Amino acid sequence: MSKDKQFVTEITPQGEDFSRWYIDVIKKAELMDYSPVRGCIVFRPEGYELWENIQRDLDRRFKETGHRNAYFPLFIPESFFQKEKEHVEGFNPELPWVTEAAGEKLEERLAIRPTSETMFGHMYAKWIQSYRDLPLLINQWANVVRWEKRTLPFLRTSEFLWQEGHTAHETEDEAREETMKMLTVYREFVEEFLAIPVIEGEKTPSERFAGAVNTYSIEAMMKDGKAVQAGTSHYLGTKFAVAFDIKYLDRENTLQFAHTTSWGVSTRLIGAMIMVHGDDRGLALPPKVAPTQVIMIPIGPAKTREQVVGRVDELHAELKKAGIRVKVDDRSDVSPGWKFNEYEMRGVPLRLELGPRDMENGQVVLVSRVSGEKRIVRQDNLIAEVESMLADIQRDMYEKAKKFREDNFYDVETLDEMKTSMEEKRGFVLAGWCGSAACEKQVKEETGATSRNIPFEPEKKKSKCLVCGDHAEHTVVFARAY
Ligand code: AMP
Repeated sequence: MSKDKQFVTEITPQGEDFSRWYIDVIKKAELMDYSPVRGCIVFRPEGYELWENIQRDLDRRFKETGHRNAYFPLFIPESFFQKEKEHVEGFNPELPWVTEAAGEKLEERLAIRPTSETMFGHMYAKWIQSYRDLPLLINQWANVVRWEKRTLPFLRTSEFLWQEGHTAHETEDEAREETMKMLTVYREFVEEFLAIPVIEGEKTPSERFAGAVNTYSIEAMMKDGKAVQAGTSHYLGTKFAVAFDIKYLDRENTLQFAHTTSWGVSTRLIGAMIMVHGDDRGLALPPKVAPTQVIMIPIGPAKTREQVVGRVDELHAELKKAGIRVKVDDRSDVSPGWKFNEYEMRGVPLRLELGPRDMENGQVVLVSRVSGEKRIVRQDNLIAEVESMLADIQRDMYEKAKKFREDNFYDVETLDEMKTSMEEKRGFVLAGWCGSAACEKQVKEETGATSRNIPFEPEKKKSKCLVCGDHAEHTVVFARAY
């Protein structure tokens, strides 16, 4: 590994090289490190804690919508993949195989799971007999492996952490309702918790999950104008039920295939959050996900130090008791200015300063990481003031990201217009599409952008295909994507 990958002294400005900026920030903030295995990363505690916070909130939302967690095996027999033709074709190129164990060649190769529709399908066939067993609503938190050619920490790794929900239902309507419900859960989570605005819509057939009838996604815009698919929800019809024989006796006592769904989000969300909110000073974490929400820094001369630190410790205890994630940095060998920079780089949303003058006045200074806004507030009302400022920061971060997306969203009528737009301005474009795979392919070849999704609520409806000029079946969001 080259030395510059290990030590980052300066963060490359975003405007100079966005990819370099991203790597500098995640390394300097100690979120991850490269591993000796290609495309795999180590989640360091600062990075893993972000995932833990994401998990906690999402898990609550899954449970509130009636799902339960379980755990299924990592190894999947090769024969399982052969059962659903599109699924195997889609995943085969990315599968790593176990062919030997304990010195013996295995009778059947085992895939390391890239996703678990097949394993759930196999088990659901055993567990589901009658309509009384439905709906079956299970989620698992796990690691999966997809041997990706192009990798980027968090956003696209060969092994990643995720959750995958798998559900089975009596009717198509119910399964479709579940598919949309979980897409909504994802949208609300990503917008409310990670402060990232997303576009909800359906994927075009070429971008569909291998084996799905319909794939829906939420798409987010990064600060370099590129897109990240932040979550997907699939309606699988009866395809996996037929392949794995998931049948049930319905209310009229006839055998029916179940309708299934699956949905997932991954540690990619961490990468998206960094690319949406970070700036030239480093990370900027939304308060809801930040491992440390408030950093308290005592300031002032040595002679008042003991007193100031004592008061900081008291206030720390109060904030902590109120459930705020707060830390004190009372090191005396580094200056307050150095600390300010350090915690800004690490993305801590709120800084609290307390000096001798503040002691006398019964106040503290609160400073926002993102806007730099300063509020001088009373110590005897500290919990409410901190909570209110954290809430404002969370909301402002969302609004700022939304404005950025609006400012970088373009409307185009033709492929030529789109090419110019992509070259000069980057960002997302909204365009009409006739529905043919050939036109979609041409867009990709000539602009490097892919269809992100067909938004449920486009700003406007387009009437003509940007490539062939025929009637537009759909209005599509196109962008270059991670
Ligand atoms: P999928 O099963 O392909 O629908 O993907 C489920 C979720 O995992 C989506 O939110 C994807 O964006 C995400 N994802 C897919 N591949 C990767 C990868 N190599 N690294 C990280 N996240 C991924």
